[in-house]
Amino acid sequence: MIKAKILIVEDEPAIQELLAFNVMQAGFHALRAEDADSAWQQIRSNFPDLILLDWMLPNTSGVVLAKQFRADARTKDIPIIMLTARGDERDKILGLESGADDYITKPFSPRELMARIRAVLRRHIPVMPEETVAADGLELSPASHRVMANGTAVELGPTEFRLLHFFMTHAERVYSRTQLLDQVWGTQVFVEERTVDVHIRRLRAALEPTEMDRLIQTVRGSGYRFSTT
Ligand code: CA
Repeated sequence: MIKAKILIVEDEPAIQELLAFNVMQAGFHALRAEDADSAWQQIRSNFPDLILLDWMLPNTSGVVLAKQFRADARTKDIPIIMLTARGDERDKILGLESGADDYITKPFSPRELMARIRAVLRRHIPVMPEETVAADGLELSPASHRVMANGTAVELGPTEFRLLHFFMTHAERVYSRTQLLDQVWGTQVFVEERTVDVHIRRLRAALEPTEMDRLIQTVRGSGYRFSTT
């Protein structure tokens, strides 16, 4: 599974450390910055999936930085969760008006913070319809998260599952790696194209015992296609 990258922008080392620890414990990658300049540096080299942004930062405040992110074409769609020590309603409104997706007041429980992160990330990942799809003896049910191949259960990781679902609902058409990234991973997630090949390989390996791997076809120079013919 691809780990989402969370950029933590916090100038207090102890709090930054605590946030990074919790983010990693929850299975995400933690990127760190202590001010606006280092935040932009991180964004240039490691595009994050979500930004945890402290309100009180030296020089450029979190509110101003959130507005900068929203005004920049590259960063305007990255979800932001604002962190603040101040809990009054006026600040909350200011934070959300600056472009933050959510808002959390210090001190916060790690569990609450992680729940907020997951909720915000979920809103930014493509939604999968619930209907079961079937093709050539292969059956995939998003509702129960199961795949059956001629009656045999196939175990798939979450990304392979999404990938197979996309293929089955878009059969007989060729998709480039970039198109697959946009459709399966979502446009907010910046991963390298060869990541697609890794997951195609895993998907084929999982389907191989039932010989369903033949349905996932490589189209030289173009990409991949799901085909029953
Ligand atoms: Ca601070």
